[in-house]
Parts: sequence; C-alpha cells; structure tokens
Amino acid sequence: MTELVSLHAVGKTFPNGVTALRDATFSVREHEFVSLLGPSGCGKSTALRILAGLIEPSTGDVMWHGGKAPDGAKGDVGFVFQEPTLMPWASVAGNVYLPLKLAGIGRTEAMPRITEALARVGLASFADAYPRELSGGMKMRVSIARALVTNPKLLLMDEPFAALDEITRFRLNNDLLTLWAAMRQTAIFVTHSVFESVYLSSRIVVMTQRPGRVHAEIAVDAPYPRTEAFRTSPEYAALCRTVSEALVEAMAQDDPARDDSAQGNAA
Ligand code: ADP
Repeated sequence: MTELVSLHAVGKTFPNGVTALRDATFSVREHEFVSLLGPSGCGKSTALRILAGLIEPSTGDVMWHGGKAPDGAKGDVGFVFQEPTLMPWASVAGNVYLPLKLAGIGRTEAMPRITEALARVGLASFADAYPRELSGGMKMRVSIARALVTNPKLLLMDEPFAALDEITRFRLNNDLLTLWAAMRQTAIFVTHSVFESVYLSSRIVVMTQRPGRVHAEIAVDAPYPRTEAFRTSPEYAALCRTVSEALVEAMAQDDPARDDSAQGNAA
C-alpha cells in the first residue's frame, strides 16, 4: 500500500500559548483505517484539522503522497465533526448538497450523487426530512453522507459517535465499516475509546498527553469484515488489553514542557 498522507515532526502552538502537538509524526497508507487514540485534550482534533488543511502547523510538515502538500491535495478530504452541524432550515438532501453547492454544482446535476450518498448511509427515504425530525444517530448519518458526497480520497472523523448511546454507536460502527469497505476510502478516526479503536481500525496511533506525540502504533490484524462475533471474541479482548496498556504508558509520559507558561512561542 502506498502512503497517502503523513505528519512529519508537526508541532502546534495556539496564539494563547497552548501547545497542542509537539513533534507528532505518523503516516497513513491508502485504504487504511487508522484511529488516533489518546486522552481528551491531547491534540487529536488538532492533528485532524491540520491533516484537513483547516489549520496550519506551527512547525513540521504535512506530506501528501510523500511530497509537501500542494493546495489541491487539501480539497480531497471529507470531514465529520463531533457534532453533526446540520443546517436546521435545510432538508436532509439540502444539507448533503452543501459541499457540491460550494463546488459550484447545480442542484439538479447534484441530485443523483445526493441520493447515492443518502442510500449509502441508509437514509434514502429521508431526503425531504428536516434535521429536527431525526434522531442523533440519523443526524450523524447525514453528516457522514455530506462528507462522502464529493467522494473524497480521505475521510477524517473527529469522535463522531461520542455523544450517541452505546447501541446506536455499535450500529454506526458496523455501518461505517461497511461503507469503508464499499468505498475503499482511507479513514482516520479520532477517539478516546480503546474499544471503538480496536473494533474499527487496521492500525491505532496511540498519542501521549498534551502536547501530543505518538507513543505507539499498534496494528490490529483481525480480518474484515468485523462483526459482533469479533466484538465478543477473546482476540478482541486481548487486543483491547494491549491497547489499554499502551494508553496507560502514554499517559504516564511526562513532558516537562507541559506547563504552558514555560513553552515559549513556537507558533
Ligand atoms: P483532543 O482532540 O485530543 O481532545 P484538541 O486537539 O481538541 O484535543 O485540543 C488540544 C489542546 O489544544 C487542548 O488543551 C485545547 O484546549 C487546545 N486548543 C484546541 N484548539 C485551540 C484553539 N483554537 N485555541 C487555543 N487552544 C486550543
């Protein structure tokens, strides 16, 4: 598999002096499903936003296909935020249309793609519904359809299921894996759940406390498709234990520079 995107020694210090990332390096190959796992506030979302080109790193580089990112590469990304962030005044189809509208594509021309994206997330019959009529899980499905409608090469997801109840989350985990298998996208998924990261990923990047660095990378060699049988298997339990241990080690890593007042101005 060829490398799609990577961070090289990326640091990020915000204008308020908080250093979210320091020397973060990892790469993602085409068609992988990689989770960024770490404690809340360790810089996972910041890494994702840098990968998406939404914010610039203070130090280090983002590489696409092994080279420095040309501006064009940034467009080939779909982003699913923690909240579904739907426009309440627009129908489900209108919300999914947004990225195509921004790309200058007319509604009539866009309609087959909107219909296909909604079908992929199991909402084909909800095109004319409004966000207020949908459950939390359905809103998140719309958000995923909106991210996929441009058929991006890279799908970035920032704790998309954290606010959902466990049963809905399990169902969406399964549906996400089905989607990923069908569309052959590369996926990077931010989570602080060991269990979710093991269930979904082909590889897990374990990050330290803030400022986030990569503590360990753990391959999850269990085959896809993964089902409830995997979730209840001894293999899954053993992998969860390995990843939990890595996370505990990562959290014990003490960075003497974490005191923000002592961090200088790397921005
Ligand atoms: P995570 O996704 O792992 O929970 P984040 O990347 O959201 O972590 O945040 C890492 C740290 O950076 C946190 O301390 C957060 O408060 C801080 N942070 C994030 N965004 C900004 C910002 N725009 N300005 C200042 N601090 C920020």
